[in-house]
Amino acid sequence: MKNIVLTHATVVTMNKQRKIVRDGAVVIEGNKIVDVGKTSEIKKKHAIDAEINCENKLVLPGFVDCHVHLAQALIRGCADDLSLVPWLRERVLPMQGTYSAKEGKLSAELCILEMIKSGTTAFVESLLHWRYGFDEIARVVEASGMRGALSKSLMNLRGYADQPDAIPEGMVEDGETTMKQTLEMIKKWHGKANDRIHVWFGARTPGACTVEFYKEIAEQARKHRTGITIHLGEVKQDIDYMRKEFKMTPMQFMEHCGIVGEHVIYAHGVWIPPEDFAILRKTKSTVCHCPASNLKLASGFAKVPEMLAAGVNVALGCDGGPSDNCYDMIREMKLAAVVHKGRLLDPLVLPAEQVLEMATINGARATTWGENLGSLERGKLADLVVVDQRKPHLVPVRNPISNLVYAANGGDVDTVIIDGKIVMQDREVKTMDEPAILERVQKEGLAPDKKLGLDINSSWPVV
Ligand SMILES: [Zn+2]
Repeated sequence: MKNIVLTHATVVTMNKQRKIVRDGAVVIEGNKIVDVGKTSEIKKKHAIDAEINCENKLVLPGFVDCHVHLAQALIRGCADDLSLVPWLRERVLPMQGTYSAKEGKLSAELCILEMIKSGTTAFVESLLHWRYGFDEIARVVEASGMRGALSKSLMNLRGYADQPDAIPEGMVEDGETTMKQTLEMIKKWHGKANDRIHVWFGARTPGACTVEFYKEIAEQARKHRTGITIHLGEVKQDIDYMRKEFKMTPMQFMEHCGIVGEHVIYAHGVWIPPEDFAILRKTKSTVCHCPASNLKLASGFAKVPEMLAAGVNVALGCDGGPSDNCYDMIREMKLAAVVHKGRLLDPLVLPAEQVLEMATINGARATTWGENLGSLERGKLADLVVVDQRKPHLVPVRNPISNLVYAANGGDVDTVIIDGKIVMQDREVKTMDEPAILERVQKEGLAPDKKLGLDINSSWPVV
């Protein structure tokens, strides 16, 4: 089997000892990593078929974005500087409610292109409404070379916390249909594209599902050995609702419904109280921190250093185009690393290394690829990224992890390999037609605005 060997790199292995190898090399055969070590030793051991010289570059595991809305790339910037209720009810949900599979596909292409260009190699999509066109989106993932868990949205009520009619007409789905569609998509797509595509259950937030429906989702996910993701405790109303309606904390409620476990991801978790941390740890469930979204929507501060100290698995996510406005995990890492220092008046919390763990190995652990992903070690899946350090903002290099988390951005990612295939090299995406996608987005991207008669622009006069 022909190999690809990345040589002369600073290799951030993320192995158990978190070893960083200077002048290191990574050997890839098929879709697996077969060796990692010093370049000089690797060159003695292996005949090289294709060498990628990574001098002055970092090689590290690709980022795992654990909370993505593919359909929201196209509505980037549609609802800035608004509070959550008008944000959701006047802009985001109605705009997504105009989608056909055409917008769904274009948005997924744009989102995946942006993720590849900023070094994300695996993602968990949170809520795919049927109207976005599940099949077409899965085909985009397949063709792009990306690794993705696609969660079909499930709901059997149309509320959001204590607001019973919060979900507008175009976004309402019914329980029986959403369950049937999810099971169909599992049958059709789970494990496809050489196991790069997984299908998950995307349960809607409390207020949109009955307890019985949550229990059914949990049972089906266990039966099909796949994951569940749900927005949990994003805003205070969520936990007030669970306390009032069910007399439970969010994690007591999730445990009661059976929505806990190794492949369960709670997006945001801003308002998960400390008394719930023990349930999170015991059940090995994951909280996905989305700092940009939480700050921009003024949702609050997730207790991330506190959860990590309590042994909870915390991952990182970019959320969507109207909340974070970009899908760049490097920018997200910086925000995660700095915001909690300010919140706790303690510069020692969340060092760069711990944030990189959140963006790679912690996220990987939560996915259904689990231990096969998230570090550069023999036998693991070959999902890795190369970051060019020869930039004015990335020199001198003392601690390469510090430069990556505090000074880099997604534009510094030079090469991306997913499942052993070169998906981007020297910033050129091999699997997608970038100029054509940008052209189409420019032409057709404002279709939701037009359908709703919205004219969204700067508050300044535009002449
Ligand atoms: Zn979200």
